[in-house]
Amino acid sequence: MNLAEKTVLKLGGSVLSSRENVAAVPDLINKYDNPVVVVSALAGVTARLRTVVSDAGSKGDTGQINAFVTSMRKLHLDLTGDSFRKNSRNRKIKDELEQELSKLKKLIRGVAFLGETPNSILARILSFGERLSALTLCCILSDAGIQSRMVPPEQMGFVTDEDSLNATVNLSESKERVKKALSGRFTTVVPGFYGVAPSGKTTLLGKGGSDYSAAAIACCINAPFLDIFKDVAGYLTADPVFVKDTRPIPKLSYREAAELSYFGARILHPRTMEPLYGPNIPVRLFPFPARESIVPVTVIHRLSPVEETVVKSVTFSDDFSIVEVRGDGVGLVPGLLADVADAVGRSGINIKSVITAQTAINLLLDGGDAKPAAAAVRKLNLHPVDRVQVRENAGVVAVVGEGIRRKPGVAARMFGALAAAGINVRMIAFGASPVAAYFVVNREDRALSVNAIHQAFFSRAAGL
Ligand code: ASP
Ligand code: MG
Repeated sequence: MNLAEKTVLKLGGSVLSSRENVAAVPDLINKYDNPVVVVSALAGVTARLRTVVSDAGSKGDTGQINAFVTSMRKLHLDLTGDSFRKNSRNRKIKDELEQELSKLKKLIRGVAFLGETPNSILARILSFGERLSALTLCCILSDAGIQSRMVPPEQMGFVTDEDSLNATVNLSESKERVKKALSGRFTTVVPGFYGVAPSGKTTLLGKGGSDYSAAAIACCINAPFLDIFKDVAGYLTADPVFVKDTRPIPKLSYREAAELSYFGARILHPRTMEPLYGPNIPVRLFPFPARESIVPVTVIHRLSPVEETVVKSVTFSDDFSIVEVRGDGVGLVPGLLADVADAVGRSGINIKSVITAQTAINLLLDGGDAKPAAAAVRKLNLHPVDRVQVRENAGVVAVVGEGIRRKPGVAARMFGALAAAGINVRMIAFGASPVAAYFVVNREDRALSVNAIHQAFFSRAAGL
């Protein structure tokens, strides 16, 4: 396999989760020439930061905050064994870690004092997970004789928009600065997950955002590859939590991977593919610790082969809710959909999908968004609308594969399998994406649905 110079590696939180795993990291890094290593926070740290911030906002006392910071120090130091004390470079890294911990403590105390957490402060606090893990990795590498340097987003000019919790990377602004900051013959460690807005505020790239950081950095330096290491090896034909006989998928196109992530496959952040289309940088997904030889489980590139049965994977998401806007003729009133979408958009809510009919407009939204979206639509008092209903018990199931819109018989096989399993399909969207079709069922039915579809498309017994 090709381990060309300046490959961007992304190490997920699960990689830096135990002494055993950590011991395998220097060998991996040594296989590359001057790599850029983007890290997530240690497993569970972002969630713990989130909890401590919300506790501090409501009932935080100084004792609790001190105990939390002490536990963070211990977690990171334990992972490095005695490395922090070994040489002067490591002692310097330890000093930096202490400085970060003390800034973190001050920020959380600030939240406790204010009794509320503005999003910009929440973003700043959550970014500490990655700051701490990056320093920890530098120390581990230095102990193994690999001199690395840490270049945080604020130092390299990794610029985003001003959205504190779901920022978009400004690639054209960042490109030259990032390229310059990461040039030279070095192993560089970059904390993922956050960037800096033009106002100077810290911004987060959304949940699981360090995949997206790594992709944006790969784009900026035109890296030969983006190599992602995590405990979940790669994309499978279905989620193994629901389906027994899943198989790995060796090749996916960017848009297939993007749709799978959008519809719930928790392998990559859904925006990871965005910066890669243009420069056409392949993503390779590796299991960690790597087995005998390092071979990617899934490679994502611009094109992927169209399978005989078209469908490459079936996925599901519980993170959808629905607002149903009902009334005779709503589907025929010009401008009504625009008014509805506008009201929802102005409330800061993203519409994930819309399925309309003569008597109903269905908005598919993120899990918690249905109630505020429905309130915004009700306020409009639109004439033909007589009911705006929230439906939260939705399970969305998607099938993904290049060629899905062109090949006859895919829908028949899919809905035939669901009918045979006695599943009632509440809503269908076929044709909206060239590579994905999805439908809504009651949440209790989604495991059965995923299994029925997997069986229909992947079972050897089905003669495929
Ligand atoms: N630590 C962040 C999160 O848990 C980013 C990441 O892991 O990619 O969302
Ligand atoms: Mg992660």
